[in-house]
Amino acid sequence: MKWLNHGLIAGAVCAVISPPHVPICIAGATAPDWLEFVFKLSGKRIKHRGVTHIFTHWLTAALATSFIWDYQGIGMAFAWGGVSHILTDAMTVSGVPFSPYSDRRFHLFGGRFRTGDPIEYAIAAGVVLVCIALAHLTGGQGFAPFFYDWSGMYDKGLIDALEWKTNRFRLI
Ligand SMILES: [Zn+2]
Repeated sequence: MKWLNHGLIAGAVCAVISPPHVPICIAGATAPDWLEFVFKLSGKRIKHRGVTHIFTHWLTAALATSFIWDYQGIGMAFAWGGVSHILTDAMTVSGVPFSPYSDRRFHLFGGRFRTGDPIEYAIAAGVVLVCIALAHLTGGQGFAPFFYDWSGMYDKGLIDALEWKTNRFRLI
């Protein structure tokens, strides 16, 4: 899938959940591709849609940052952006590797289209429209405007650990 569409999809979804995290989420949503450049710059040869596109790696990072540790939602926005990249790449013909232990490709919705196909723009446009509608419902404030602030307040010593523990999963 093209970067434009990866960015649109992740950015739109993130704007509904937490607008301030959109840039980080877009950085994460393009990361599996630009990380390949980084690897190449360091002199390593790597396959396109290889090690940076492993579904279980991104999912593990996303779950870990969601439930174990994160700093102000930054790691979380980045990792879920990465997951969105893998899931949307999985809809294309070449698919993505599911886990590091198998060479089998993982496909979503049958993996029907090729990168650059008009369908991918249609999917991105559909996601953006749905997200605009959702953002409207939440008044454009984001679903969870205080989501990351619980840990921010904890850092500043405004609330104690118990308050942080009981509130950190409260979204609204
Ligand atoms: Zn990719």
